Amino acid sequence: MFDVLVIGGGNAALCAALSAREHGAQRVLLLESAPRNERGGNSIHTRNIRVKHDAPMGHLTDAYPEEEFFEDLLRVTGGKTTESLARQVIRASQDCPPWMQKHGVQFQACLGGTLHLSRTNNFFLGGGKALVNAYYRSAEQLGIEVRYDSPVDEIEVNDGEFKAAWIAKPNGPRERVTAKTVVIASGGFESNRDWLREAWGPAADQFLIRGCRFNMGVLLKDLIAKGAQSIGDATQGHCVAIDARAPMYDGGIVTRIDCVSLGIVVNKHAQRFYDEGEDFWPKRYAIWGRLVAQQPDQVGYSIIDAKAQGRFMPPVFPGETANTIAELAEKIGLDAKALEKTVADYNAAVVPGQFDHAVLDNCHTEGLTPAKTHWAQRLDTPPFTAYPLRPGITFTYLGVRVNDQAQVLFDDYSPNCFAAGEIMAGNVLGQGYVAGVGMTIGTVFGRLAGEQAAKAAATITVNLKHSESSKAAA
Ligand SMILES: Cc1cc2nc3c(=O)[nH]c(=O)nc-3n(C[C@H](O)[C@H](O)[C@H](O)COP(=O)(O)OP(=O)(O)OC[C@H]3O[C@@H](n4cnc5c(N)ncnc54)[C@H](O)[C@@H]3O)c2cc1C
Repeated sequence: MFDVLVIGGGNAALCAALSAREHGAQRVLLLESAPRNERGGNSIHTRNIRVKHDAPMGHLTDAYPEEEFFEDLLRVTGGKTTESLARQVIRASQDCPPWMQKHGVQFQACLGGTLHLSRTNNFFLGGGKALVNAYYRSAEQLGIEVRYDSPVDEIEVNDGEFKAAWIAKPNGPRERVTAKTVVIASGGFESNRDWLREAWGPAADQFLIRGCRFNMGVLLKDLIAKGAQSIGDATQGHCVAIDARAPMYDGGIVTRIDCVSLGIVVNKHAQRFYDEGEDFWPKRYAIWGRLVAQQPDQVGYSIIDAKAQGRFMPPVFPGETANTIAELAEKIGLDAKALEKTVADYNAAVVPGQFDHAVLDNCHTEGLTPAKTHWAQRLDTPPFTAYPLRPGITFTYLGVRVNDQAQVLFDDYSPNCFAAGEIMAGNVLGQGYVAGVGMTIGTVFGRLAGEQAAKAAATITVNLKHSESSKAAA
């Protein structure tokens, strides 16, 4: 029997497995549903982790104290967070970078064009893929067993106590695996189209999945069906506007379209529908997926002129370009007259100011609905460029309720079933997002869940030995 069974193969699962080993668990097994060449879940797409610190730390500049981190979280979640758990995550985040480095993760200076993240976010050298690979290497060195192509489709629990997990097999009967404790770190349900449709309606058919295809929420559903308490709302998640030409899965970061605040965005009727300059892009990019999802056919077009070129992170696919708005409309399949009118109305409403993309400048529109409140410049310098947009779902927030020991709550907290990462992120993130906090939650709770699972397994071992020796004496 295994001491600790870890289900999942991304950041949270790996942190849990490594931590369980470090805390004395002898036999640790990690089950990853993906094949080896696709291992690592959404974590392979990440670039950074948000970290609290009271003085400069490695590449992190200045200080980012607990209170400021918490206020940032409170603002984006609108108060939908469990304060005690959020603060626990924030406090423990400071200890993460040295631990990550011990397991082979390297950091680099903040990437250019990422706007003001150098103080708050620690960037991974080589991105999330390098991080995941480093953890798998460390796991191998520590003797952690890893099995790929091993999707778990059911957890056996009795009164909240974990008994066994079932691995689905493509051809043949399922396999039952027993362990003293389990850490479930199998992500959200963002890859499950049917579930997305239940939450979002038919609009979900147009969603692109920014991460992996394996996060189907199978165990989230199974746990809730077996009495685990849920937290959060199925319609809440992280959803950004990405290039409509992105692949269905794993488009990752390069399909993000980051020029929204530099131009205008229209729907398929060539109408604007939201203030593109409401706030700094890092604070607003995560609302645009939802905004595009609310448009007819869930499509939008981000349109800029030559003045915007070079001011944003270039997306992987080149935009459509043209020397006139009418020609651009034709190329992207919009009504030319309608787009010309939208651009003309917008241009007429622009009140020239001092353009500065690094501050909330005074370039705005007047008498236009919706207004553009900052960085409003006329679209008057060809060539004009358009990028088609679709909602791109990053991850979902509905999860299982946990306590400060990462134990899953059934009627009571489970003695041996723990959760970490996206599957419990809703305890901290009820809505909204602050960049880098997904990895903070997964790393802190992954480490914690691994530690607690190892300790619980040790207790169970002692109890088993005790009852065996009592039997022998009798
Ligand atoms: C494009 C993109 C960029 C992102 N950038 C950042 C960033 O820079 N910083 C940040 O903090 N967050 C970022 N995120 C969010 C971040 O990826 C997640 O918060 C984090 O990776 C979650 O880790 P996890 O281990 O819970 O889930 P995942 O990394 O998704 O891992 C889940 C694992 O579970 C496995 N699995 C699923 N179901 C089963 C099953 N039934 N049986 C066995 N295994 C199963 C999957 O194969 C996968 O390996 C980004 C996400 C995306 C998509």
